[in-house]
Amino acid sequence: EKSKKMSLTTKIFISLLVGLAVGVIFNLWVPKGYIRDTIIVDGICYVIGNGFIRLMRMLVVPLVFFSLICGAAAIGDTKTLGKVGGKVILLYICTTAVAVTVALSLATVIKPGVGLDMSSIAKSDVSTASQTSMVDTILNIIPENPFNSLSEGTMLQVIVFALIVGILLAKMGERAELIANFCTQCNDLMMEMTNMIMGLAPLGVFCMIMRTFANLGFDAFVPLLKYIGNVILGLGIQCFVVYMIIFFTFTRLSPIKFFRKFFPVMAFAFSTSTSNATIPLNIETLEEKMGVSRRISSFTIPLGATINMDGTAIMQGVAVVFAAQAYGMNLGIQGYLTVIATATLASIGTAGVPSVGLITLTMVFSAVGLPVEAITLIMGVDRILDMLRTAVNITGDAVCTCVVAFQNGDLNKKVFNDMSLVKKDV
Ligand code: ASP
Repeated sequence: EKSKKMSLTTKIFISLLVGLAVGVIFNLWVPKGYIRDTIIVDGICYVIGNGFIRLMRMLVVPLVFFSLICGAAAIGDTKTLGKVGGKVILLYICTTAVAVTVALSLATVIKPGVGLDMSSIAKSDVSTASQTSMVDTILNIIPENPFNSLSEGTMLQVIVFALIVGILLAKMGERAELIANFCTQCNDLMMEMTNMIMGLAPLGVFCMIMRTFANLGFDAFVPLLKYIGNVILGLGIQCFVVYMIIFFTFTRLSPIKFFRKFFPVMAFAFSTSTSNATIPLNIETLEEKMGVSRRISSFTIPLGATINMDGTAIMQGVAVVFAAQAYGMNLGIQGYLTVIATATLASIGTAGVPSVGLITLTMVFSAVGLPVEAITLIMGVDRILDMLRTAVNITGDAVCTCVVAFQNGDLNKKVFNDMSLVKKDV
């Protein structure tokens, strides 16, 4: 399975490079005209590229809906861990909000999208975004009619409804077994569909990148590099500053020791781009190298892999600022607050498998009134960032788990401090 994923990654990288090269060639050497512009660039490439984006958007509502129902149902199962659950969920949400804030602050300073004029090649109108007041934004979280929310793709409302359904399913147990199984199977189905559609990514990426570079030429390079650098910097700060501070503040244990022992798990997450697949290794490592009781981690790690995606939130925060700058849109304070709220929720709704963060990003874009096709540029480089952010995602789960375990007396300090375990195979 791993080699299949890697080969998709390679394919996407290749199509990114080829699309980029062909786009630049078109920009520099192919004379403007009916065939170049109307047929190829704004015809074929536009249709295929945006067709792919539509396919991805098709996934969002059912994917988030079922993944959250299943996630919430799993939390409810572990009633005995209610107290730990509350604490860890609070930590998960706070770290994610910090992550988006870090991302937004950095992006405001670095200004990755300035100099890129996407509005000239945009086909949909940015200015149609309607701004609602703060109070209404909060009230709007509660769905008046959940079926409307589903059909209109009002994500916050979908999330709230899904969480309630999941929690109640867990509470009802056998009485609602049929529905619970149905949701689990729907969740599996959506995962399969995601894999299938991501198989088309190389073609979609080629067309989108080629169109962008054919229109913008070299002008697109610097902003793109700035975007990548900005996301990487944000991930680095979250991982090596924010987590270290949280870890040390709450446990008084050495964060350096933590990272030395945890590194293989990060490497595994990096190479597979999936938090879910990293769950077993994460739990084993925490138990055997750091003395964290399984009683805690067997609950908090799968939960974190499902709802705690700090790396993803960072990418989404930077991506929104990047796109807003490229489309010449002023986010304003309210826009920033909306991004913090929606990116936190979007990362909760992001499943721990490759590329889903990009799909839920469309929901953050819509929330602030950016056209979803703004993901055009970012898509091409997303694979490498996905690898990096997944490593951060699972590190966040482990740090929060250590904190909660420590406070609960479920972390064995002797094991944690024993550095002979660094090289131990788990
Ligand atoms: N690949 C990420 C993960 O599994 C999710 C994402 O941001 O796409 O954690």
